Amino acid sequence: MTLRRYSSQLTPVSPQEYKGSMTATQFPKALLLGDAHTHLDQYAPEEMPGVLTRAREAGVGFIVCAGTTVDSTRACLKLAQEQNLLYAGVGIHPMEARQRIDEAIYTDLEAMAHSSPRVVCISEIGLDYLPSSPDHAVQDQVFRAQIRLARSLKLPIIFHSRESHADVFRTLREENAGEVGGAMHYFQGDEATARQAIDCGFFISLARPLLRLPELQTAAKAIPLEHIVLETDAAPQPFKKYRHNWTEPRHVLTVAEKLAEIKGVSVEEVAQVTTANLAGLLRLPAFGAAQADHSPARPNTG
Ligand SMILES: [Zn+2]
Repeated sequence: MTLRRYSSQLTPVSPQEYKGSMTATQFPKALLLGDAHTHLDQYAPEEMPGVLTRAREAGVGFIVCAGTTVDSTRACLKLAQEQNLLYAGVGIHPMEARQRIDEAIYTDLEAMAHSSPRVVCISEIGLDYLPSSPDHAVQDQVFRAQIRLARSLKLPIIFHSRESHADVFRTLREENAGEVGGAMHYFQGDEATARQAIDCGFFISLARPLLRLPELQTAAKAIPLEHIVLETDAAPQPFKKYRHNWTEPRHVLTVAEKLAEIKGVSVEEVAQVTTANLAGLLRLPAFGAAQADHSPARPNTG
């Protein structure tokens, strides 16, 4: 969610401090989890080894690093080429949609998407209607252009929607986004909203708000696991007092554990189904890609 690049000095944190914040059930060896959405490019480079080690220890096998601008997309792509845990999303975030996507920007995005098989989705795109957000007409053009890009590349869309659900769902339908599918990122809505996203051909992507929002817990209980993927939206959170409370991909395990508790199933089942859903969506057969529905043919990105 945070779009500002974090660049201030970090206080080193010992492994004990991280361990102290975890439960005894963590670090299961058999689980394989995927994180559908992060902004790890916003972390300082010296943070990356620790963040990725802790993710691996929590069973996270693959992580999407989503661009928010042309420059951050380039940074995500670079990380995805350097780190085998990471994959990249190409996209311009609605909060960054201050100018229309002209031919030059479109060509830039398209070239980045084509440049590497590590690009697995168009993300982060969508609409955001906070009072401080960019002009709605510009956001609309930027969102539609990127849905068209996703369709032309046959890449799934991981989208953002804040105070804008009705317009987002209408736009997804008008632009036939269901043809490539994807996920509604950082889902915090009710069951009816989740059903609308699923009807549009999208997964529901659950993050840490599941730990504290009763309405979201009710929706998550009602929605079958077959429609759910997991994410963290991990980005630096310098406003939090303790570094070990910053959201990292390792927290996908916490979300999986909460979802298992809500649904009365094992965390292994949650991991198995949600990981297969996400791997299928992103066309990553090595991680147990399942359903064909949401698995459009991948273009030759070589
Ligand atoms: Zn995000």
